Amino acid sequence: MGLTRKILLGMSAGAAIGIGINLLGESQLVGAGVNNVINLYLTEGLFDVIGRIFIASLKLMVVPLVLVSLISGACSLSEGSRIGPLAGKTILLYMVTTAIAITLALCLALIFQPGVGVNETVAGAVSGFEPKESPPLSEVLVNIFPTNPVAAMAEGNMLQIIVFALLMGYAISRCGEPGQRVAALFSDLNTVVLRMVGVLMVFAPYGVFALLAKTFAQLGFEVLLQLAKYFSVVLGALLVHALVVYSVLLKLLSGLNPIELLKKMRSTMMFAFSTASSGATIPVTLATVEKRLGVDNKIAAFTVPLGATINMDGTAIMQGVATVFIAQFFGIEIGLTGFLTVILTATLASIGTAGVPGVGLIMLGMVLQQVGLPLEGIAIVIGVDRLLDMVRTAVNITGDAVVSSVVAKSEGALDEETYYDANYNSVSINDNNTIGAH
Ligand code: ASP
Repeated sequence: MGLTRKILLGMSAGAAIGIGINLLGESQLVGAGVNNVINLYLTEGLFDVIGRIFIASLKLMVVPLVLVSLISGACSLSEGSRIGPLAGKTILLYMVTTAIAITLALCLALIFQPGVGVNETVAGAVSGFEPKESPPLSEVLVNIFPTNPVAAMAEGNMLQIIVFALLMGYAISRCGEPGQRVAALFSDLNTVVLRMVGVLMVFAPYGVFALLAKTFAQLGFEVLLQLAKYFSVVLGALLVHALVVYSVLLKLLSGLNPIELLKKMRSTMMFAFSTASSGATIPVTLATVEKRLGVDNKIAAFTVPLGATINMDGTAIMQGVATVFIAQFFGIEIGLTGFLTVILTATLASIGTAGVPGVGLIMLGMVLQQVGLPLEGIAIVIGVDRLLDMVRTAVNITGDAVVSSVVAKSEGALDEETYYDANYNSVSINDNNTIGAH
């Protein structure tokens, strides 16, 4: 059985078992003692341990892979394309897709009115939520520039690592023969690190099983029912954005067939869904974008880690719907200027916040503050946020792949043969472990 099938199986089994445990806890079928044992030894025990080890192993690869791959990419980048225009194009596309995402979300939320007629008790049930402080924009900008590359790597600060790697890659390409030797070393290292990712992929089905079993066992289905309208509007907007907006953009901007991209991104989306972290998914996204979509390493090594950090269309969609929801819930009008502020703040907020689980809520705090809505509103939507976080992370990384493909195509760095290769089962991130759709 192929790895993708196994991952899908792990996901479904994990979700089913999690829901089973959840229902068992709600029902009177077994006593509280049995439920406690299940909770202690399975949900908070085995599933938690395996899930955390899995996430740790993915995160383990992020810094080495981004560093080595980007240095290697930047070496060859300076020969063909220039870094400045490439970076400009990529960042602009990331911002435009985010702005489209949030506009779509606002429109759908205004049409479907998710916050009208919501039960007051929902708010009370989750009171006591303390919104976290969000960093000021000036700090965010200064923080992009590292003072110490080792500290940047130790903290996993993606933007700082990107700046350092680009600088080093550029310098390598300007050093003549010594530069060529170092470039060859990084290119070899890149192959080795990718192989390491491949080795760890073997454990992915068990990892996603444990993650989903734990999440679903702890999900509050009751809140889900009470917030069904909010949940459905966010979900609907996420699907429209992922399936329609991305397809149209990809076709218009690059002429590529979007179905191919969506098909080949399936397994990566599963990773993003299970981990709810675009950051932890970087190794898988990078491998897929390079090996299966045919984006040259010199483009992908830059666009993918950057996208995982600054491009969060799914998160922006949640913020759009949540803002309208909260405004309607509290009966506050925010008007056209309010909506424009939401679009601007949400787009900028995504730059300064890393792709980790739940960060969307911190960004929502910034947006609410800007338009003068009560921060307590976050407490209302938090109950259903975990599940939405998983779906929006899958959308976030799909956006990264779309922009990577568009940029690569425009730079003449997309191998269309690989992109259209229907037999992508054979394309592997190493010789043994395919992450293709079997
Ligand atoms: N979990 C999301 C990501 O990593 C961010 C968020 O929406 O909270 O991309």
